[in-house]
Amino acid sequence: MGIENKTIVIGHKNPDTDSICSVIAYTELKNKTADGEFVACRAGEISSETQYVLDAFEAEVPELVTEVAEDQAVILIDHNEKTQCADGADDAQIIEIIDHHKIGSIETKDPILFRNEPVGCSATIITKMYKEAGVEPDKKTAGLLLSAILSDTLNFRSPTCTDRDVETGRELASIAGVDTDDYAVKMFEAGEKLDGKTAEDIFYSDFKIFEKDDIRFGIGQASFMSQSTLDEARAMITDYIDETLAKDNTKMAFFMLTSIQDQSSRMIYAGEGAREALESGFDVTQNADEEGILLKDVVSRKKQLVPALMETV
Ligand code: MN
Ligand code: MN
Repeated sequence: MGIENKTIVIGHKNPDTDSICSVIAYTELKNKTADGEFVACRAGEISSETQYVLDAFEAEVPELVTEVAEDQAVILIDHNEKTQCADGADDAQIIEIIDHHKIGSIETKDPILFRNEPVGCSATIITKMYKEAGVEPDKKTAGLLLSAILSDTLNFRSPTCTDRDVETGRELASIAGVDTDDYAVKMFEAGEKLDGKTAEDIFYSDFKIFEKDDIRFGIGQASFMSQSTLDEARAMITDYIDETLAKDNTKMAFFMLTSIQDQSSRMIYAGEGAREALESGFDVTQNADEEGILLKDVVSRKKQLVPALMETV
């Protein structure tokens, strides 16, 4: 059965959990309240985080759409930039856009429902639309909407998270019967899996070299929601970091394993003077040699670590 006669509801390319779960929930609301048939679609592969969510609530994976025909009716969710659209979607018959990003580059042929609200997640807007329509999301839909909010707001910790996201998330959690902290950790763990990544991949994924006089030092960083994944990365980086000194021609190397939950960074280091530089730059209250130095309340390389090391290396 083709989708030509239906309206496709679709999120952005490289879909995140919001772009999948908000699409599923909104499609369901439209099928309950509007004329015509609506079908949940996706513009790319599902991430391992999103797969965890779909499995947890026994939801179906939306239909993959790689090319949208010009006469196809579409509703765009979680994006309003041409570059983020499924191919062809920006030239199709856009009938609605629901999004929480800045107004972007899309033009439409006709007036449409364009709903943009400054909140942390599309699912927060869609939950409000359920209320406006007088429809209560069932357990599964509440779970999907909640997952999108937890994902976009990093379990309510991101600076983009608003009071409305928190309030909406709490309401959805009670319908879904979910303990959000526990569930968020499992969801992020599924998404952060290090499967197939080498120590080198992790070390250099976000790495910069700095210079002070004739001293070159490198700092890499990776952030984690899940403590067990952080520990796994720590073991890999600890075994690897010495090698980077010769490779990058640096005197010292540092790696920040940042815990989003604890707002702290575990420092792995190598090279002469590296440990001393950290100890004189920070109030190091807890040391454990094989686990690295723990810096509490230090999460920013640019604003916290680099200024301190520029004084102490
Ligand atoms: Mn998104
Ligand atoms: Mn979003």
